[in-house]
Amino acid sequence: MRLQVINEYSDFTSRRIHCFALGASLVAKARPKKPFIPAERYETIRRLIISTLGGKTLSAKEISGEVGISEKDVYGHLEHIHKSVEREGGHLIVTPAECQDCGFVFKKRDRLTKPGKCPVCNGESITVPLFSVSG
Ligand SMILES: [Zn+2]
Repeated sequence: MRLQVINEYSDFTSRRIHCFALGASLVAKARPKKPFIPAERYETIRRLIISTLGGKTLSAKEISGEVGISEKDVYGHLEHIHKSVEREGGHLIVTPAECQDCGFVFKKRDRLTKPGKCPVCNGESITVPLFSVSG
């Protein structure tokens, strides 16, 4: 039945059918080998960051070194960690960035990343914020 169907198509079409079949089997085989399912991996990384920050105060750069992800990703995870830690009754303690020229402290900053410039003196020597988890 199958052979008969293929014979009825031109060579070109049967080759395309073959490619489709091959593609499908590759996808099916590749799926279990995929290194991670993003949502679960994020959860694992966040747990790892939370445990790394338990009793320690670290900068995003130091967290990135401990956990093995980029500094940019650390900041992304920290936003989520903030919420999940609070939900569980703990706290993400942020030591705010500080201008080394005039001493201005970025206390009201909502974003967790390091500010680029001091709004008071325009200085660019700004310490990085530090993070810790309590509770
Ligand atoms: Zn300043």
